[in-house]
Amino acid sequence: MRQKLVAGNWKMNGSFDLLKSLLEPVSQEKGLSCQLLVCPPFPYLAAAADLLKSSGVFLGAQDCAATPVGAYTGEVAAEMLAEMGVSHVILGHSERRHYQAEGDALVLAKVKQALAAGLKPVVCVGETLEEKQAGQTAEVVLRQVQAVATQLSSEQLGQLIFAYEPVWAIGSGLTATPDQAQEVHSLIRKALAEQDQQQAARIQLLYGGSVKAENAASLFAMPDIDGGLIGGASLNASQFLAIGHAA
Ligand code: 13P
Repeated sequence: MRQKLVAGNWKMNGSFDLLKSLLEPVSQEKGLSCQLLVCPPFPYLAAAADLLKSSGVFLGAQDCAATPVGAYTGEVAAEMLAEMGVSHVILGHSERRHYQAEGDALVLAKVKQALAAGLKPVVCVGETLEEKQAGQTAEVVLRQVQAVATQLSSEQLGQLIFAYEPVWAIGSGLTATPDQAQEVHSLIRKALAEQDQQQAARIQLLYGGSVKAENAASLFAMPDIDGGLIGGASLNASQFLAIGHAA
């Protein structure tokens, strides 16, 4: 059975004060049955690794370079992240696909770097409002999933986590209903199963987009939703933990 995962994507938010005030209660929380993952911006990763030491809470980054170490000014290599105690990396987030014009090929290159460094990629997929209205949700989401999945070995595939984040639901207060989200998650799992049934049954599929303490339990109750990728609500310890308790 897949364990639930509740992941906080801080995006470009935070400070050393927030890091301390958030990670102390999060690292000390008892009685959660899900895994927790926090993904602060790069400058806070080292301090976060220290605060989370021996807590069981996983630490993730929000991006990594598409190449190994070398002359790439401003980039951060996956192996550097691994050395810092990072275990997961969010890749292909819709904000990066949009603002940094990241396409499927670049996301795949980053996934390969992450895997080579022993990191678990959390690959984000999701349709825009326009694409949803044009009835293209399945096509867009499956294209993004398969652009990565079909290029990996079975063993590599088993290291992936996918996050379905409908772009129209991010930061908008609009959440996909549990049924809408389940429908897409089930499509993703079926597509993965066509490639590798065993791994597909194991891969965690997260939902992201305006997840809050109030709507988390009904989303996480769906059979193919294995937790959430949380933006805004992950910046508040009690909200984030309440979502963890809903999982
Ligand atoms: P919100 O939870 O703020 O909608 O953000 C979701 C998200 O983009 C997580 O990666």
